[in-house]
Amino acid sequence: MRVAIVPCLKDNFAYLVIEGGVAAVVDPGEAEPVLAAVAREGVRLAAVWATHHHMDHVGGLPGLLAAHPGLEVLAGERDAGKIEGVTRALADGDEFELAGVRGRVLHNPGHTLGAITFVIDGRAFTGDTLFGGGCGRVFEGDPAMMHASLERLAALPPATEVYFGHEYTAANLRFAAAVEPDNADVARRVREIPTPSTPSTIELERATNPFLRSHVPAVIAAAGARGAAADGASVFGAIRAWKNDFK
Ligand code: ZN
Ligand code: FE
Repeated sequence: MRVAIVPCLKDNFAYLVIEGGVAAVVDPGEAEPVLAAVAREGVRLAAVWATHHHMDHVGGLPGLLAAHPGLEVLAGERDAGKIEGVTRALADGDEFELAGVRGRVLHNPGHTLGAITFVIDGRAFTGDTLFGGGCGRVFEGDPAMMHASLERLAALPPATEVYFGHEYTAANLRFAAAVEPDNADVARRVREIPTPSTPSTIELERATNPFLRSHVPAVIAAAGARGAAADGASVFGAIRAWKNDFK
């Protein structure tokens, strides 16, 4: 299995996941770059995997369905009604398949109520739930829900590659350094951000992403200085609120 990164719109990432000449596309924010990548890779597009219902992740669906009628379209069951052409609504733990390789869906509500991560072959496609050095805004859930979702992602095997939905890593790490000025892993990552910065790994995110570090004393202290209690959900909520206003 291999993955081709497909930049879309201003800073979105779609991904072609390729196995044996067959491809699925994750989060096609627009159709044209995806169709160009399918042609360039010489693969047959069989499926769309939508992490959540926002237009910058599914806006390419009408164009893809017009060019490839009969596409399988997978989405989380709570978001499926808001996405065109869904053929299968997925619940937490449901399996899916690409050319004989099986993956598993992780329901991670918070950014949207139906947000899911596609986990397959040592990779996690996290959409706007987990970013490089950050996380999505909590639009439909609450901080406790988003925190629980991120904790489940953090528990994936450390070597899992994280393919996220936006190129926000540099700004996210500037914020991470504000939360943890003494975190040497954050300082190192800031100096070594690749272009593009996707994929990351769960191990790197656990070391540098403040939103996966609500249990770390320095993060608890930073949240406490902003009035938060020491429990994970409160720490996460305070750090998330701080990031919302961080320039
Ligand atoms: Zn989104
Ligand atoms: Fe997005």
